[in-house]
Amino acid sequence: MPQPFLPYGRQSIDDSDIEAVARVLRSDWLTTGPEVDAFEADFAAATGAGHAIACSNGTTALHLALAGLDVGPGDVCIVPAITFMATANAAIYCGAEVVFADVDADTGLMTPATLRQAMSRAPDGRLRAVLPVHLAGQCEDLAALREIASSAGAVLVEDACHALGTSWQGRPVGSGEYSDAACFSFHPVKTIAAGEGGMVTTNDAGLAARLRRLRSHGIERDPARMEQGQDEPWWHEMQELGWNYRLCDVQAALARSQLARLGAFAAKRKTLAAAYDALLDGNPVIGALARTPDCDPCLHLYPVRIDFAAAGTDRAAVMRGLQARGIGSQVHYIPVPSQPWYRRRYGDQTPPGAAAYYLRTLSLPLFADMATEDPERVVAALNEVLGV
Ligand SMILES: *Cc1c(COP(=O)(O)O)cnc(C)c1O
Repeated sequence: MPQPFLPYGRQSIDDSDIEAVARVLRSDWLTTGPEVDAFEADFAAATGAGHAIACSNGTTALHLALAGLDVGPGDVCIVPAITFMATANAAIYCGAEVVFADVDADTGLMTPATLRQAMSRAPDGRLRAVLPVHLAGQCEDLAALREIASSAGAVLVEDACHALGTSWQGRPVGSGEYSDAACFSFHPVKTIAAGEGGMVTTNDAGLAARLRRLRSHGIERDPARMEQGQDEPWWHEMQELGWNYRLCDVQAALARSQLARLGAFAAKRKTLAAAYDALLDGNPVIGALARTPDCDPCLHLYPVRIDFAAAGTDRAAVMRGLQARGIGSQVHYIPVPSQPWYRRRYGDQTPPGAAAYYLRTLSLPLFADMATEDPERVVAALNEVLGV
């Protein structure tokens, strides 16, 4: 019997997830209601954050966090060149400009050193926010990034869309210990799925209240926070311009049920990653995922490093060869500054570490429902395609 096609990532849905969604469909609430409240409480507990604010996706989480921290026209945000474009786009939505930081050529992460370099390229006095991206689920030295950003008067907003379940120096990512806000995504390829969904965590109660307003048109309903002080039962006020970035209860029920499975997901991802590490140990052509110190990652991706030219091939041929053997792969990511829109805005600014990382990276299948033996099949196919 042919083996099933292995995509590079996919969701894991079981009967408990289906039951959770069905329960909401039978209830009185479909849009933002009790399930969203419960999901936020569970998420805050899972990350150790003081506040968790759910929203419609990871991109709106980033936009809300930056808007809530007053990023606006004239400001500059530093974003690593290797990320999903949403990280940079969130700054642009706020009217700010982006300075792209280089990344470590092996891990793909912005480091304290590459952050300092990028800061030297930011116009004087304009830097407002630094957005480290926890690529593949790993993070850099968060305390150092925080310290460097604060010393320049900038806020730190973590793009933690890959890093739910990861901890740094024993603290969960998103705890609020090292950043002003952390943003998560529940897109189906991410560690937990909501269909679409996002979350911002923070320890700042004022910011949390503002994010709750901004995700729903800027409307305040808490009588204690009214500007005009009416106590009529219908009174609510739009205090600033927000958006409809709400999560609905159907999505929250799925995400909450998935969050209850996070421990099992993380354990499985760790087992699979360890299997890849062992299989690639000593491989002359394929470099296993490079790891960062102090980080205990729940990996979202398993990107390997391959010098395709030295192996006498190119990446497209390798991806097609894997595809023909029933194995999906992907590239995370095309450097954002080389995307046409950013190239037109700033000229191609892809820095050397990002260019080197991009040239060699290939993400192999990693998801909770993979069989423990699947990495063997993937590495065997990759060796065969590369002629190792
Ligand atoms: C997925 C992702 C986002 C955006 O999340 P959506 O939920 O798809 O909007 C942002 N940043 C990174 C690094 C991501 O992987």
